Amino acid sequence: MNAEIIAVGSELLLGQITNTNARFLSQHLAEIGVNIYYHTVVGDNEGRLEEAVKLAQKRADLIIFSGGLGPTKDDLTKETIARLIGTTLEYNEEALEGIEAYFAKTGRVMTENNKKQALVIKDSTVLANDHGMAPGMFVKADDVYYMLLPGPPREMQPMFLTYGRPQILHTMEKVERIESRVLRFFGIGESALETEIDDILMKQTNPTIAPLAGDGEVILRITAKHESTEEAFRLIQQAEDEILERVGAFFYGYEETTIASELADKLKEKQMTIAAAESLTGGLFLGELTAIPGTSEVVKGGIVCYTNAIKEQVLQVKKETLDAYGAVSAECARELAENVRKLCGSQIGISFTGVAGPDDLDGQEPGTVFLAIASEGNETAVHSLKLAGSRAGIRKRTVKYGCHYLLQ
Ligand code: ATP
Ligand code: MG
Repeated sequence: MNAEIIAVGSELLLGQITNTNARFLSQHLAEIGVNIYYHTVVGDNEGRLEEAVKLAQKRADLIIFSGGLGPTKDDLTKETIARLIGTTLEYNEEALEGIEAYFAKTGRVMTENNKKQALVIKDSTVLANDHGMAPGMFVKADDVYYMLLPGPPREMQPMFLTYGRPQILHTMEKVERIESRVLRFFGIGESALETEIDDILMKQTNPTIAPLAGDGEVILRITAKHESTEEAFRLIQQAEDEILERVGAFFYGYEETTIASELADKLKEKQMTIAAAESLTGGLFLGELTAIPGTSEVVKGGIVCYTNAIKEQVLQVKKETLDAYGAVSAECARELAENVRKLCGSQIGISFTGVAGPDDLDGQEPGTVFLAIASEGNETAVHSLKLAGSRAGIRKRTVKYGCHYLLQ
């Protein structure tokens, strides 16, 4: 369904008021899937209003008018529409009751003149005005719907939301809802992930699945269109289930989350404490983690052990280990993780050691990373990584890998 909004009022053309009605209506119509192709503003002039309506009739399924419904001589919207669609105005009981109710509510005396406001387009559906006198109208003629709303925003807005919008929704055979969901992955490259779900990507038309990569992460946006929101979400869920069955191991969260905040949530939920020994990452890991509110419950502390002296003296890495394997080694990572855990008295100890580049270190290439995770009663897990990219990229991705393995 496509709609045009015609705001009637010379004050709008003179720049005395802003056409906020068009803005309000457009936002709400877009929300229910009505396309707005034109906004028209026309003065309180019957001839020009007629021209505007005739043009709109050719290009819109729904024309929404605001303004010109009052009792004064310059208010001519309903008269003009009635004439153009070949009908007349008639007194309407509902409208009259509405006006009487309004007078009763405001404690004012109703005059004969006010009764004229109960004149509505014949056979139209009356939209009650709970905040004023002029009723709105909704009528169909020759396949075009017309909705007439009063000009004052405080009357127009509640009338539209309470009575107007439901009428539109009711007449639209099919309102297409567009829903989407973002799935975030880490630890798998974009092409590897796409290969895994290639057939799912190929066969999809609704929902559609759009992959996006950046910062070492892969993001899939699943978008479904359906007239029912529930059905759109069911389609999304179905696609999500299929995808996670294949690559669920790399999935870490929805929408705008980060892997560090998912880790923080998990640690908080399990009441697990953590400490870190950071060589390669120089504090980046704990920086990320402690940026998240509430992590004081779970982060015990850590050591930035950038030199071998600190590794040896503060973190008690054996001299023999450093001599035999160097600082960038699985052995060193293991001792760092185990010892920082003991030193800080945490349940988990994690360590990061490696070469961020751009130069080699101890004969190892940039991107060589060892990451160890020690926890009480478990064998210490050491992960060795070969990362490509810039110094900053390697450091950032190392932190994300730390989060990733801790989330496993
Ligand atoms: P009334 O019974 O008050 O005359 P009406 O339906 O005839 O209502 P108008 O006379 O066109 O409406 O406008 C009344 C007032 O509503 C204007 O003076 C203005 O303050 C406000 N108004 C009208 N049109 C708009 C618009 N498009 N955007 C924002 N405000 C508007
Ligand atoms: Mg008026």
